[in-house]
Amino acid sequence: MPAAPKPEILAAFETAKGFMPTGEGLALYAAAVEAGQLGLPLLEVGTYCGRSTVLLADAARASGVTALTVDHHRGSEEQQPGWDYHDPSTVDPELGLMDTLPTFRRTLHRAGLEDHVVALVGRSPQIAKIWSTPLALVFIDGGHTDEHATADYEGWAPHVAEGGLLLIHDVFPDPVDEFTGQAPYRVYLRALESGAFAEVSVTGSLRVLRRTGAGI
Ligand code: SAH
Ligand code: MG
Repeated sequence: MPAAPKPEILAAFETAKGFMPTGEGLALYAAAVEAGQLGLPLLEVGTYCGRSTVLLADAARASGVTALTVDHHRGSEEQQPGWDYHDPSTVDPELGLMDTLPTFRRTLHRAGLEDHVVALVGRSPQIAKIWSTPLALVFIDGGHTDEHATADYEGWAPHVAEGGLLLIHDVFPDPVDEFTGQAPYRVYLRALESGAFAEVSVTGSLRVLRRTGAGI
């Protein structure tokens, strides 16, 4: 049986603002608990308001490791004012810019999980560039342009420890399903073609891959 979150954690996830459906969240949670057995941190790219972070944080707590979550908190292209995924309540009225950090902090506090998460506020490639700690799990759920998805893959996939997991969200193999673009799908193909990752599971648009080799 894959590990499942307690009802109060699932409730915190489901009430948080964000983009992950419950079925994919359960797959994320099970993968995170399994990977946490390696005793290394779990890292997410794309915090937004902390919806998926709640599950990573609880999985980290269960394994006695730390969850790290990366975001500049200014939103992706499709979340800006005038675009399909814009939420006006995420705009800082003083600056007139998106700022999801306050909502994220409320989500985590309400879930009782602040102690299990370190938030890295900044641009993903800039943080990846100075990173050197091996990771049990990397969950890529950041920007959906080719530029961002590719930089997330190139920046973070090399840090997945052997036996650890690489998760990619919003993978849409069929262009008809595409609503945020197919850059995550292209990154997923690249990971498989590298020979360094093998597919473990598919749940909706979430792909779970295991690092099996060195060359990326
Ligand atoms: N995981 C979240 C959804 C993330 S949405 C959930 O479960 O609901 C994507 C997030 O990626 C946005 O908050 C955006 O600010 C962030 N993002 C996009 N490009 C980024 C980059 N280059 N560096 C850091 N964060 C980025
Ligand atoms: Mg996503």
